[in-house]
Amino acid sequence: MTDTPRVLFVGGLGRSGSTLLELLLAQSADVCALGEVVHLWERALGADERCGCGERFTGCLFWQRVGEHAFGGWSAVDRIEMLALKRRVDRTRHIPRLAKSSLPPEQLADVRAYASHYTRIYRAALAVSGARIVVDSSKHASLAFALRWADGLVLRVLHLVRDSRAVAYSWGKQVRRPEVVDGEDFMPTFSPLAVSKLWTAQNAAFHLLAARAQVRRLRYEDFTADPTGTVRRLREFAGLPDDPAALRILTDPADARSASRDAVVSSPAWPARVHSIAGNPLRFNDGPLTVHRDEAWRTRLPRRSRAVVSLATLPFRLRYGYLGQRGSDSVQGSS
Ligand SMILES: [Zn+2]
Repeated sequence: MTDTPRVLFVGGLGRSGSTLLELLLAQSADVCALGEVVHLWERALGADERCGCGERFTGCLFWQRVGEHAFGGWSAVDRIEMLALKRRVDRTRHIPRLAKSSLPPEQLADVRAYASHYTRIYRAALAVSGARIVVDSSKHASLAFALRWADGLVLRVLHLVRDSRAVAYSWGKQVRRPEVVDGEDFMPTFSPLAVSKLWTAQNAAFHLLAARAQVRRLRYEDFTADPTGTVRRLREFAGLPDDPAALRILTDPADARSASRDAVVSSPAWPARVHSIAGNPLRFNDGPLTVHRDEAWRTRLPRRSRAVVSLATLPFRLRYGYLGQRGSDSVQGSS
């Protein structure tokens, strides 16, 4: 069953709720969430950063087993060569090439070699975990385009979008990276104009991909309005059976605030930590898993920044229904 692995690839620009969504999906035994595998080569193999379970990469038994199963051990992977291959294949500027229906032999060999590393990791993760699908929340459209060239992979792509003004607000904040053990490091920050360009480029790329792969679009605002329905529909999209137990983890925010920690720890609904590579610091959260729409940008994004983002992202904002002051209040169904 794991010879042809199934992957749900979560794509879009960061700060769109992918870590929270991945954590929710991963609470079912048939889902193995891996975090952002695109960062494995540098942050895990290179810097030995912490896995979502809290252990360093080299101390995480899950990832060591995955390495054994996929490559006969991580020491067999030439990290420098893999990073060189990544630069040749997995860049946003290569997307027009990767979107073509055929490639010259040399480029095809590079793409297949690059994608095969991911396929081997997915297959190994399924074998080690016993799950039926893996979730890779790498998000970069260029990796999704590379994976469509993989041999023996069932690829489903979730295109996650969020109001560009909320995304711009989030990328302007300084956030410490808890996975860094030696010293202190922060997530990068971007200006409102830079975020606008990235947001537009990523979203345009996933619309292009939709003509070549199975892509489902989901708005963050619709996900947070109906997490239960979202998980149910995504499981169906990924080829998983309906499972009411998959949703037992969801906690009403009011319940979470009033519950004492001890009471919640003993509850079967306490969320399982996920062996994830990179992602939002939320993955180290020891509290109950709650879903609420973060709307801080409405009051805290400076007026000038808001104007810049609103104008620079207008075409896709209109397309997704992110309009005026009410922004994303006009909820649409995911498509
Ligand atoms: Zn781990």
